[in-house]
Amino acid sequence: MAGYREHISVSGMLGVTYGAASVFGFGFTPVQGVIAGCLTGVAGMIPDLDSQTGKPVREMFSLIAAAAPMVMMERLLVWGGNVETAMLLGFALYVAIRYGGATVLGYCSVHRGMFHSIPTMLIAAELTFLAYKSDSLSVKFLMALGVALGVLSHLILDELYSVQWSGVRIKLNKAAGSAFKMFGKNLAANAVTYALLATCTYAALVDLGWVDAPQSDGVPKPLQQAAEELPSVQ
Ligand SMILES: [Zn+2]
Repeated sequence: MAGYREHISVSGMLGVTYGAASVFGFGFTPVQGVIAGCLTGVAGMIPDLDSQTGKPVREMFSLIAAAAPMVMMERLLVWGGNVETAMLLGFALYVAIRYGGATVLGYCSVHRGMFHSIPTMLIAAELTFLAYKSDSLSVKFLMALGVALGVLSHLILDELYSVQWSGVRIKLNKAAGSAFKMFGKNLAANAVTYALLATCTYAALVDLGWVDAPQSDGVPKPLQQAAEELPSVQ
């Protein structure tokens, strides 16, 4: 399994490449490119958040706790209604991730459980898509894809490290293949992961406008439209 330094080097370099490609190849602004590159770099650490030991994990939580309010800044401004409340929300988010997140994970995760999996990669990307408020859909996709790439680089690196050279033969250790899994061994972890994936996917589809948001008055949208289109009795 690759270590903290290998992961941050690879996802960091990937982030620089991705950011540069988005600016010079696809016409995003330099600021957007830098943010996307940073997200890719940080995302390369996400899967190892479940390894409960050591300084790197605490550092990762600090990094993600600091990045989340910045990514969500526009959202927080909308939710808070003014800058002061948004600052307070940002601070609360930081504390919740920095201290709450680590504690919760410590209770419920096994290292190289569902955090090293394709569903987790999708959840991280979808959360980014939802959290990053922008009028431009392509900017939201840029950020989400950056996070997906970062996580993917982590999974690939872990897989590469499970290949061992012994003399002339390549030997796979017991971790081989486990980073790309769709399901883990723990039933509850699978259930939570897929419930989260379904929720995020639904929210992202609503955000995209491809799926109607649930109506608060209990009348489905198509019905409402049909009712409005009915010729009114004069
Ligand atoms: Zn890992």
